[in-house]
Order: sequence, then structure tokens, then C-alpha cells
Amino acid sequence: MAQPGRTPGGDGVTLFDAVLLDRDGTLVEDVPFNGDPEKVRPLPGVRAALDRLRAAGLRLGVVTNQSGVARGLFSGSQMAAVHARVEQLLGPFGTWRVCPHEDADGCGCRKPAPGLVWAAAADLGTVPARCVVVGDIGRDVVAAAAAGAAGVLVPTAVTRAEEVAAAAWTAVDLPAAVEEILRRQAAVTPAAVAPWPVSGGGRGTVVVVRADSVGDVLVTGPAVRAVAAGADRVVLVCGPRGRAAADLLPGVDEVIEHPLPWIDPVPAPVDPVEMRGLVGRLAAVGADEAVIFTSFHQSPLPMALLLRMAGVPRVAAISDDYPGSLLDLRHRVPPGVPEPERALSLAAAAGYGLAPEDQPTLRLRPDALAPRPDETAVTGPEGYVVVHPGASVPARAAPAPRYAEIVAALASAGHRVLVTGGRDERELTARVAAAGGVDLGGRFNLAGLARVLTRARCLVVGNTGPAHLAAAVGTPVVSLFAPTVPFGQWAPYRVPTVRLGDPTAPCRDTRAATCPVPGHPCLAGIDPADVVAAVRVLAPG
Ligand SMILES: [Zn+2]
Repeated sequence: MAQPGRTPGGDGVTLFDAVLLDRDGTLVEDVPFNGDPEKVRPLPGVRAALDRLRAAGLRLGVVTNQSGVARGLFSGSQMAAVHARVEQLLGPFGTWRVCPHEDADGCGCRKPAPGLVWAAAADLGTVPARCVVVGDIGRDVVAAAAAGAAGVLVPTAVTRAEEVAAAAWTAVDLPAAVEEILRRQAAVTPAAVAPWPVSGGGRGTVVVVRADSVGDVLVTGPAVRAVAAGADRVVLVCGPRGRAAADLLPGVDEVIEHPLPWIDPVPAPVDPVEMRGLVGRLAAVGADEAVIFTSFHQSPLPMALLLRMAGVPRVAAISDDYPGSLLDLRHRVPPGVPEPERALSLAAAAGYGLAPEDQPTLRLRPDALAPRPDETAVTGPEGYVVVHPGASVPARAAPAPRYAEIVAALASAGHRVLVTGGRDERELTARVAAAGGVDLGGRFNLAGLARVLTRARCLVVGNTGPAHLAAAVGTPVVSLFAPTVPFGQWAPYRVPTVRLGDPTAPCRDTRAATCPVPGHPCLAGIDPADVVAAVRVLAPG
């Protein structure tokens, strides 16, 4: 007999182990080149906010640029006295990581370089992907992203508007950032009791739905694994454009592929016979539950209706629209949350958490990633840079001539450059690769591209499926990101990333499929030298 009770499967895992804090303008008032402990003034609410993090078990560190040391404006002992005063007022920090250099020194630690974040994470016994960096200027959050950490910008009056626009995550001040860090952590922690009665063992057969393209399916991977940790069997429903990714997701036992005309960007007319056929296939699954994953502008309700018609007794989804009796669990998520966490929070609300040995990162089936000699013969030895000029949505691709210049600049800097693309992008890849790369257009399916990316130093790509594929194999991404959708939701997740492109372009937040601005300025203006510099930051040596 099914009874309410503790949910089987994983308890979920923590998103973050540690919070790394900038000093001046974030923890304390920014007194330029301060060597005097008497001038240390904590910002409002900071002590209480830090104590909330400490109480939640998060480790704390400070990462701070102090070029006053290099300039001889204060001594090391004066700085130590300032830091002692900060700890006296704000409590202990597990590590202090200070860059004493100036920009001209070209060190690897001065933010926006990621060195301080790497070092502080290691000091605290964790890795950058499990850290949040909080700071008041662009350098802080750019360093965070380059290390693969989350970054929260807490702007002050001196923070530049473009830095605010480029940030993945902003909060009004440190206390607000702490509130959101703890809220995001709680949101992916599964409810101890399922929202409906469940039997003591696994939760039977669960249908998970993620329509749309490859990237959409990949970012839902952690949530699918969470469901799989508690279910006996997982059946994933996807559209044709996402099928190749569905086949790569761990935890999926069966895939049902069907066009979903309320999601597809170029939808076919709704065919009643086809829809009845889909209902029949769903009914044949005999599912006990269904979880419908969507992006924030997609409605789960048509699929919920079909699942009801197929006899599925429990249906969960995120829906701002009134669902009537279509949903048993109507979950809500504020805007701006990364898509993988948004999906994980729905799974958590339905009582599903990642298995203890799992991590909230994108992943692929390990068997799909084994190197194949026929492919490595084409790519040559590992250590190349991959440039992927195409995009599933035209507004998210930089112009081909700009990509050609990027390839030429990377080749001049000594990189071996592989240019990848789908079968329908061979004209584009040939044109781009002619500038100094190897044209691999049409040579690999999605699984093959994943294997190519596994052996790459880094990937240069727009906001499109392969960016998430790189994240899923742990390869850093130079993201040529059109601001048509929010960077905070669609950035490559938990992998070292440098964002390029104009975040303030007029196409911002339009969700345009084709760039509405003449000349496509958000991406056409990217300087190839910035791409070369980004590759140097992400893949040094
Ligand atoms: Zn330094």
C-alpha cells in the first residue's frame, strides 16, 4: 500500500561548498590602498550575512587584488593588520588569497585572472565549480567564471553599467546575495516527503519530458539523473531536434521521440491522428508519474493534457499559467536561475534528489565518450582548440567572416584549430576553416563531437548546443554570447567560461531568432585578439 513517507533515491547534493568574497566594496568600505586598520568599516549587514553562511556549513574565503603592495603604498605587515581587523569585525575566514601585483605584471592571480579562485578553492578543500564568488566589480565575476565558479555581482555606485549587464547573477548587496545563494541551495534539496503517496521502494516508471533542441535536453541532464535516482525506470519524451542529446543522457532507460508543435520553432500543423498516436505511445508506457521540464517561456500544459489522456496519475511541472487539474504539482521558479538548477528544483519539489555520489554538473554516458581510433586519426593528438561557428538559432552565431578572423588569430598564436559543424553547415565550416583551421564540418554526429570536445583545450562557440556539450565533458568554453536570452540562465554550466560579445546590444532579452539589429553588433564586434586572450586564460600553457 502506497503511503506518504521519506522519498527513495538521492537526498540531493549541495550546490556550493564555499563562498569566496572580494574585500573592498564587498565586505568593507572601499578605502583606496588602505594600510590602516582603523579605517576598516564593514558594509551594512555583512557580519550577519556571513554568519548565515557559516551556520549553513559553507566555508568562507577572501580573494582580493591589493596592487598597493606592488606600488609600495603599504607594507605586508600593514595589510596583515588590516586583515586582522576585518576578521575581528566580520569573523574568521578559512583562507585569504591576495594578489599583490599590478595589471602590467601579467600575473595569473590578479582578477579577472582565475588564479586566486583556484587557490582559495583548494585551500578550502574544494574545487571552483563548487564555489560562489561575490564581488562588486566585473573583475570579480569574470575571474569566477574563468575558474568555473558561480559569480554574484553586488554593484556599487562605481560599478560600470556594462559590467552589470554582462554578469550572470547580480544582487543588490552582499546580504541579498547570501539570501539567494541559500535559496538556490534549498531549491535543489528534495522535499523529504513526496508531494503524493509513494511506495517504499522505487517510484515506478516515470516519464520525463524535455522538448526542443540539443542544448535544452543537455541542461536537463542533472534533473533527469535525480529522477532516475528515485525511479525504477525513466522514459524520456523529446522532440526530433533533441534526440541525439537524449541518447547521451545517463539515467534514461527509453526514449520516445515525437514532434511537439507547441514547442518547435517552425511547427507543423497539429495533426489529430499524430497526437492520438502519441497519447497511445504514452499510455503504453504505463507510467506512475511524469515530470515535464520546460524553459521559462514554454508551456507544459499541452503535454500535461496528453499525459492525462494517456492515464498518467501524477504530473509535475513548472507553470506560471493556471493549470486546473492538469498538474498535481505546480512548481514556480524565479527568473535568472541557471537552466540546470531550474530543472533540478522541479525534480526536488517532486521529491527527487541526485544520488550522493553524483554532482550537479552536466554529464554524458561514459560509454559514449570512449575514444575511437577512426576519429582520433581525423583530429590528431589532443590539445587542439575547437571553433564551432554554427548555431541552431541564427541570432546566436557570429558572422562567418568574424569567425574566419578568429581562426586566423588562433592559428597565428600557435593553436591547432579544428572547425566543427553539422552536415548542413559544411559550407560555413569550409569558409571559416580556410583561414587556418582543419575543416571537420559534417564529420561527426553529436556523440562524436562530444568525443572531439573531450580532447580539446577549449571550445569557441555561440550560445548553442555544443556549448552545453562542452560543459558536459568538462571542456572550457569561450562563449560568444548574444544577449537575446539571459546569460545567467544559459551560460555553460559549472565549467570555466569567458563571455565575449556586447551584453548591452539592443537585441538584449528579445529572444529573437534572427538578429533584429543591422550588422548584428552584439557578436560582429568581437575582437579576435580577445578570443586568443580568453583561450590563454582558460587553457594556459
Ligand atoms: Zn597577481
